[in-house]
Amino acid sequence: MQDSSQRIVIPMEDEIIHTVEHPFCSDPTCPDKEDPELLAQVAQLVEDGLLTEEEATNYVLGKTL
Ligand SMILES: [Zn+2]
Repeated sequence: MQDSSQRIVIPMEDEIIHTVEHPFCSDPTCPDKEDPELLAQVAQLVEDGLLTEEEATNYVLGKTL
């Protein structure tokens, strides 16, 4: 029997990747960490209850939720 809910495994890479879903990369020197528009979007997600503050922090740091 196969599990149909296969997880998509995202390998840890050093490449700087910005996507719509993950505009923050894991590069601590990247200026996306200080982009006021992106930060405002994350703040909105917290306000909407879609992210906890902890998740938001990890998100901004480019960590996987
Ligand atoms: Zn970045």
